Amino acid sequence: MPPAVCATRKPGSEGDFRREVEAFLTATAQRRDAWQYFRDRSGATAELYRELGRRGWLSIAWPEAEGGMGLPPAYEFALWDEMAFARAARPPIAAGLVARSILEYATPAQKQAWLPGIAAGELGFSLGYSEPEAGSDLTGLRTRAHRDGEVYRVTGEKRWTSDAHHADFLWLLCRTGDLASRARGLTLLVVPMSSAGIVITPIDTIDGHRLNEVRLDDVEVPVANRLGEEGEAWSITQAALARERHLQILPGRLRRDLADLVTWARRSSLLARDDVARRLAELTSWLDAVTATAARIVDDVSAGRDTTVAAARQKVVGTALMQQIARLPLEYGDLSQVVEGQPFEFLWRECVLESIAGGTSEVMADIVARRALSLGT
Ligand SMILES: Cc1cc2nc3c(=O)[nH]c(=O)nc-3n(C[C@H](O)[C@H](O)[C@H](O)COP(=O)(O)OP(=O)(O)OC[C@H]3O[C@@H](n4cnc5c(N)ncnc54)[C@H](O)[C@@H]3O)c2cc1C
Repeated sequence: MPPAVCATRKPGSEGDFRREVEAFLTATAQRRDAWQYFRDRSGATAELYRELGRRGWLSIAWPEAEGGMGLPPAYEFALWDEMAFARAARPPIAAGLVARSILEYATPAQKQAWLPGIAAGELGFSLGYSEPEAGSDLTGLRTRAHRDGEVYRVTGEKRWTSDAHHADFLWLLCRTGDLASRARGLTLLVVPMSSAGIVITPIDTIDGHRLNEVRLDDVEVPVANRLGEEGEAWSITQAALARERHLQILPGRLRRDLADLVTWARRSSLLARDDVARRLAELTSWLDAVTATAARIVDDVSAGRDTTVAAARQKVVGTALMQQIARLPLEYGDLSQVVEGQPFEFLWRECVLESIAGGTSEVMADIVARRALSLGT
């Protein structure tokens, strides 16, 4: 039986939907702070997810047979692009990567257990991929799970785990084979964060955000919480990533940062200077390129075409543009923008993280070099 989400109305055209999201965001702006997008996924963000869940928007691109609206990825892109422009919220991990994997690989019982809560915005997941010794290359990860009857016993350490301190589950990539088995020895487990043996320690980031270290000491996880077969995790995570690439760089975020930059230039009367006007025009041209690439990635994801190279290129260019926008006021000597609490002081610190999270710019450039230019080993 498909999981019932709630009574929802299917939107009209993609343009109509974008306007509906925009109107919703304007009407609800008072319920969140103006920089909510940069907060973790608890509090007002969790409340916003629940509101989106009630409208059926978190599952807008899931198949109808699974309780979704069955609309193309372009609707999902429009939703999160508008959310980014309004600085309201980032896409949730639960209704994104996690749901995509569950839809494709979970058993009917697992779908019944997790999908309705995810679609409603009630269940939060955090991604347990990176470790102290494995980030860019996850095939070397060491968190170990060994089977003991109807449970796995898991021991290891995850690092940089966003939202672990308030999530309901850890989406855990762990090793069931030996270290030499690399990607072939990896398995996905859904670990309740309330399990005995989990210790979470905060890690503060440069933008005042909280990441976490998650230690697992002989944590018991039911075999029923394994997604797919043992050793199958690599193909599951790669397939989910491929279907999520249209949400990785949202031009709405850049449109908003650039709009703030133009406002700053007007207020500081630098807009009258030709060199400043030229720099702003250049940044606008880069934004046009990022927007065009985003549209292409949406099309490619919809058609099931490979987006690895386009998404890697987009990550390099999109995050470099974020950094150029954030750093421009200081480049022109506006020291007021390095005072804490000023928008560009915050964006300056935050944009450092953007080129690391979800794959570093160096690693993305490597993908472009190897795959598009046939360079390297
Ligand atoms: C804000 C933020 C949120 C995050 N959230 C999560 C999360 O929720 N869950 C999670 O699992 N992880 C998360 N991460 C971790 C993130 O995925 C990793 O930091 C990232 O993949 C890099 O891994 P690493 O930190 O181990 O660096 P390393 O892989 O050790 O890299 C160190 C340096 O070497 C460079 N490098 C590495 N390999 C190559 C290569 N082949 N070619 C060229 N240069 C290379 C890198 O570019 C980098 O400069 C988050 C990170 C940040 C910043």
